[in-house]
Amino acid sequence: MSEPLIIHGVTLIDGAGGSPIEHARIVIQAGSVTNVDQNSSAAIPEGAQAIDARGLWATPGLIDTHVHLSMVGEASLPLFLALGITTIRDLGGPLDFLSETRRLLEDGAVGPRLLYAGPFIDGDPPTLQSIEATAGPDAAARAVQVRLDAGADAIKLYSTLPPESVRRAIQAADHRVPVTGHLGTTLASDAMKAGINGLEHALATPFNDFAPEEHRTPPGQSWETPGFWQNQQRGWLKADFTSDKAKAWVQLVVERDVSFCPTLTLSPGSNDLDEEQRSFIRFAVVDQAAVLRRSRARSFQPSPDAVQLARQARGRLQELVGLVHEAGGRIIAGTDTGPMQPPGFALHRELGYLSGAGLSNMEVLRAATSRAAEALWRDDLGTIQPGKRADLLLLRRDPLADLGALRDIERVIHDGQPYDPATLLAQAAEENVGQDGKP
Ligand SMILES: [Zn+2]
Repeated sequence: MSEPLIIHGVTLIDGAGGSPIEHARIVIQAGSVTNVDQNSSAAIPEGAQAIDARGLWATPGLIDTHVHLSMVGEASLPLFLALGITTIRDLGGPLDFLSETRRLLEDGAVGPRLLYAGPFIDGDPPTLQSIEATAGPDAAARAVQVRLDAGADAIKLYSTLPPESVRRAIQAADHRVPVTGHLGTTLASDAMKAGINGLEHALATPFNDFAPEEHRTPPGQSWETPGFWQNQQRGWLKADFTSDKAKAWVQLVVERDVSFCPTLTLSPGSNDLDEEQRSFIRFAVVDQAAVLRRSRARSFQPSPDAVQLARQARGRLQELVGLVHEAGGRIIAGTDTGPMQPPGFALHRELGYLSGAGLSNMEVLRAATSRAAEALWRDDLGTIQPGKRADLLLLRRDPLADLGALRDIERVIHDGQPYDPATLLAQAAEENVGQDGKP
């Protein structure tokens, strides 16, 4: 049995939604929280490691529910931890890379907990040539089984998969792992009626449920089609959120207990990255550059009003997120880290956009902690309570007063192991070199 780690004197925000608890004591043993109380003045048992956390705030470690790790490379793993992200879920990448990376992390490599879905399950023809096509419902069911056999924690359905295959894939998953979708050909509303558990990307997945006729994406079309994104952005500007159909859609999210991951930070044409974030986007520069070149040349057509259009569309998506939230739906934080989304930084951007959608600071924090853990079907994550994995942040400021405090981290604790975020960040910056050897 390892020696306990005792954090005392901290103001505890446990992530479950209750009021902060002052002078809290958190006892951690063998990577789990074993006790939480207010006995901060209790004697420290011999052999225990103690952190005097007076003047600090504790929150659960953050969860990014939508990442593409293979695009940013395993060298970026410490960067997630440096920015307070203790769990990531990969929603589209090669199974061998993901299972191998998880093995390295379990063997002690520095980085967050890694959950994964494996490759997209897409229709025929697939969205990109590089994606394997799934021809028909039986193939979709087999694809689900292949991923489950390889240890997948989720199933990710993709944009050209038709309704009958979506239904069969959900049946094949059989409530063993959550099924989520970046959909297009299949309406989000039909997928929800078929029992899907999550919807990714507010921009894309609900689009055909909301867009006026003339903007709707025809079956089989994808983000590889020229002008695709701007058509969607224009369509959102005209979407009517007051219609009975819109209200029914929002109600469906709530009734079916669907997790809505809007990835508002993903906004083609308007990625407002500051200099620090730009410096880290060079991670795995070869892959990133290829993705960006292709999307700029084809599906995204630069124009003088592109930035403004993207921002206006994001405003409409924030309205939609606000409506789902007000109705009692589950909003969760995810980023699509990969193309144009620097690891870790992207989640903090997303939290800012969720705040702009009308969520209180507590609700924003829950979107990246307890609510995210619900979406992952992981009841051992997302809060600081006895029995949970010991993933938590010690902050220098109160995040309920200012969300920016979530970047002001004194200590990151992952699986009971404390890390200094400044050291991790410096380490990540050193690793921040492209395959050509240049930073
Ligand atoms: Zn994605």
